[in-house]
Amino acid sequence: MPPVKDAPDEKNCEVEKCSQKAERSVNARKALKAGLAVKEERGNVHLCREHYRQFKKGTKEERKLERLGW
Ligand SMILES: [Zn+2]
Repeated sequence: MPPVKDAPDEKNCEVEKCSQKAERSVNARKALKAGLAVKEERGNVHLCREHYRQFKKGTKEERKLERLGW
């Protein structure tokens, strides 16, 4: 793996079986929690638009709970 540089356009989605262009990077653990099959468990993983949507869905409940906690 080459070192990470400022080239946001050259990353691909890191969810298994997906090779779409990545648009976002998110916390890997949260991605796993959200039910995404990412290879990494540490740091950040890159997600395509579609998987980012799934990610948001998967983390929604947690956020809601956090909000209710106020
Ligand atoms: Zn993807």
